[in-house]
Amino acid sequence: MGRIAVVTGGSRGIGAAISKALMAEGYTVAATYGGNESAASAFTEETGIRTYKWSVADYDACKAGIAGIEADLDGPVEVLVNNAGITRDAMFHKMTPEQWREVIDTNLTGVFNMTHVVWPGMRERKFGRVVNISSINGQKGQAGQANYSAAKAGDLGFTKSLAQEGARAGITVNAICPGYIATEMVKAIDEKVLNERIIPQIPVGRLGEPEEIARCVTFLASDDAGFITGSTITANGAQFFV
Ligand code: NDP
Repeated sequence: MGRIAVVTGGSRGIGAAISKALMAEGYTVAATYGGNESAASAFTEETGIRTYKWSVADYDACKAGIAGIEADLDGPVEVLVNNAGITRDAMFHKMTPEQWREVIDTNLTGVFNMTHVVWPGMRERKFGRVVNISSINGQKGQAGQANYSAAKAGDLGFTKSLAQEGARAGITVNAICPGYIATEMVKAIDEKVLNERIIPQIPVGRLGEPEEIARCVTFLASDDAGFITGSTITANGAQFFV
């Protein structure tokens, strides 16, 4: 049996591509999800990958969920991909405390929760791989996404700090900052806005594919990437920003 890899939000979008790519590399994959039952069961039917439902924003649920996965799959979680994420966009003057909180709780505290649960075991075994899916908007900011950009920028600080703490324990912690990737999150954007305003900003002239992010994850999870830690892979089709 291959190393056990947990992908949060692993049954849809970028996460589904990551789960499948890890499985193809020989990992035993568990995909978590937040509530979309039909997507999760369709995903399990298609791939055979087990899915587990809980909110990453709930620390106790993360603890119980990881214990359940380790019991089911009969081994420790050695690879964690923190991919689950949400948007609750609004211009700041209209953003509600609830919109702020939901995004911070899922996209930033969720990363703390999941990592905090698997970290002691990784330290004991002297091996671990943590990959955090941040965003271009955590690097450059985005009007209408103060909550999302703050959480995703927080994920980058978390990644760099934890990389230093895990270095001597054989744990690597890295981030990926995707640009616009063709998932439901992006397809939900008005088509006119997508075609007239967003795609023209991407020098390669297209959205990225989920599989293009998944391949970054499989590399960072591999033994070959053992010296890469605290780094950020920017995968955005040459969208430059200062
Ligand atoms: P999707 O909306 O397609 O999927 C999000 C996944 O996260 C779903 O599986 C969802 O579960 C899960 N999820 C959401 N909230 C929770 C929660 N509280 N607990 C557990 N799981 C949860 O998103 P994408 O695939 O587009 O995005 C994946 C990641 O990549 C996100 O972190 C996003 O911010 C980031 N990203 C995406 C970009 C893009 O262009 N798409 C660009 C840059 C970054 P369920 O299926 O049950 O709803």
